[in-house]
Amino acid sequence: MHRSLVSRLLALVAITLFITACGSNPAAITSDPSPVAPLKGSETTTTNPRDEQRLAMHPSTVGDIDAHRDVPFYQISGTIDPQGLTWQAQQTLTFVNHSGAALDRLYFRLYPNLPDMGGDLSISSAQINGVAALVQYEADRYIARLDFPAPIAIDATTTVTLDFVTTVPNEGGADLFGTLYFDGQSISLPTAYPLLANTQGGDWDLAIPNSNGDLVTSPVAMYDVTTTIPNTYTLVSTGTTTTTSPTETTQTVRVVSGLQRDFMLFVTSNPYVSAVVDGTTINMYYPNNDIDSANLALGYASAALRVFNTTIGQYPYNELDMVTSNSGSFEGIEYPGILLYSQDYFNTQPDFEDLVVHEVGHQWFYNVIGNDVQQRAWVDESLTTYTQVLYADAVHGIDAGRKQIQMFSTDYDQIRDTSDDLKLDSPIDTIGEDTYSLITYYKGALYIDAIRSQIGEQAFAQALKTYYADNRYAIVDGTAFVAAAQSACDCDIQPLYNQWVLGE
Ligand SMILES: [Zn+2]
Repeated sequence: MHRSLVSRLLALVAITLFITACGSNPAAITSDPSPVAPLKGSETTTTNPRDEQRLAMHPSTVGDIDAHRDVPFYQISGTIDPQGLTWQAQQTLTFVNHSGAALDRLYFRLYPNLPDMGGDLSISSAQINGVAALVQYEADRYIARLDFPAPIAIDATTTVTLDFVTTVPNEGGADLFGTLYFDGQSISLPTAYPLLANTQGGDWDLAIPNSNGDLVTSPVAMYDVTTTIPNTYTLVSTGTTTTTSPTETTQTVRVVSGLQRDFMLFVTSNPYVSAVVDGTTINMYYPNNDIDSANLALGYASAALRVFNTTIGQYPYNELDMVTSNSGSFEGIEYPGILLYSQDYFNTQPDFEDLVVHEVGHQWFYNVIGNDVQQRAWVDESLTTYTQVLYADAVHGIDAGRKQIQMFSTDYDQIRDTSDDLKLDSPIDTIGEDTYSLITYYKGALYIDAIRSQIGEQAFAQALKTYYADNRYAIVDGTAFVAAAQSACDCDIQPLYNQWVLGE
């Protein structure tokens, strides 16, 4: 009975902080939203740390936290040493067994141990519900397995505590996936903690991901992450900073994520520029003191956010960060609430605007609406590539939108009707590295444009909104957009799906 009163008080604190955040840089917020003791499984606890997750949400979506209270909850506390290339931390994961089957073991994915990442994640100790447990590595240490003394019942809550150290590479970036890296200015830590593997009906998805595309498919979760860093660096991450506690040489930063599919940490000595769009703060941390390029990128991202808020639906978080890395391996990669761009590519390429817009679009398609990025990468890439058209239509005019389509068509024509031309519904493992983007991005976007042509402007506009409203925080396949489009047009687009997606 204490809980409801305290919750309401915390909600008021949250709303007050949102107002503050809209008028200033959230990284500078140091007010403490009444710290609470970690939940230890006791019903007599007066408050729940999940309440503070509201601090990361846009004012219009704060209620989404209460609607998703039993998603996995990661509480991580540790220290990043950029020069030492390490993140040493303790993670406590609290989760409810919604898999539909009793579980006699748990699997965690250790992405830094993938050969393409070139890093290391080692777990030094583990506890399940407070009892010491043995960690067994599988799949060349990509998987960590913990056996339970007794099976976890369906809908039972379990707590797993893991002590771990993640080490990142600082050379050879061009030969690696390149996202886990220290480039001399910034240490980048994407999915650098033990991430619970996906399970359904007792089956675990332990497949080693193909690094031609995105790596992480995961249900939405909440993250509460406290990190100590040298005070010569700034912490950037998924979510929003709630408190910063400085000492003479360090600062300890606490971040809450809100509802996100993954958590990315980034620590940098680069400066930043900011803008506020529709209540969301966008921060661009830029390299080489190139503030002109930073402002350009910030402008593209601001316009994109405004367009997608209107045409698709409100971005549900109060912050979006953009950072660069100089590993030399990729152009841009989306993470929940944070976009990673290649320093090489940063305003040196003619399609830099498209790249910025594309990664912003992924926040709607990949993060808020999830899909299996290895088995059905086209589901998010087709719509995300199409956000470049939505942006061009709104910012540069309808002719610019058609020019985007023409570019996609020219690219896809390289393989159209050849033996390399696969149906959209092709797992990443079956697509060649050279043709992956032609099929998944460009053929995918042309499929979306074919739907637009058939159902017309008004129905297409409604389909985007319905798709987003109906599937936020879910994991979908390609049939969800068909359903949204058909409900908007009251017509049959199944033949298009059969042709483009199923190859029939
Ligand atoms: Zn993409």
